[in-house]
Amino acid sequence: MMTLTELHADIDKRVELIRADHPDWLCRSGCDGCCHRLAEIPQLTEAEWTLLRDGLSLLPQDALQTICREVATLVEQASRPIVCPLLDQSTGTCRVYFHRPIACRTYGFFVQRDKGLYCKDIEAQVENGVLNDVVWGNHDAIDQQLKCMGEARELTLWLADWQGCQSSVDPQEPLNPYFRMAK
Ligand code: SF4
Ligand code: SF4
Repeated sequence: MMTLTELHADIDKRVELIRADHPDWLCRSGCDGCCHRLAEIPQLTEAEWTLLRDGLSLLPQDALQTICREVATLVEQASRPIVCPLLDQSTGTCRVYFHRPIACRTYGFFVQRDKGLYCKDIEAQVENGVLNDVVWGNHDAIDQQLKCMGEARELTLWLADWQGCQSSVDPQEPLNPYFRMAK
């Protein structure tokens, strides 16, 4: 079984190869369309959550409060797609970029057998014949590796259990019942 670090290295290698041939690749800081239209609440293995939690622990308290509140709201949101609660919407950047889950690392560079490319903007370039020479990463292989790492849980569940999120909420303010239930 690969470790998360080894999996990151594999993904980074593929991403670097693609970027080297396409220096003007669309994915860059401030391009946040994918973070605005997640099909579902992100699912993370324990290894991914542990890394992400380290990143969350580095955030200023007000950013953490915002995330925890957005997650609490998200739990009650039935409509899809959703905006990632870890996105800083004022800058269009990821608040936990260096600690982000695997799905975010592969998005834009990897393809899944039954889902194809995920990003409509990149898909449009493919349709225009601009990216014919790209050797895409294989997301099915990544999924296999992730399965070996153990069960994945929704981000909202990991956060609900996490002391850092619970203590960041002002006890004077009404708390979403989800955070009480899920302890
Ligand atoms: S996957 Fe698409 S929306 Fe996301 S950063 Fe890349 S180009 Fe932008
Ligand atoms: S974790 Fe970061 S990169 Fe991933 S969807 Fe959320 S904001 Fe975007």
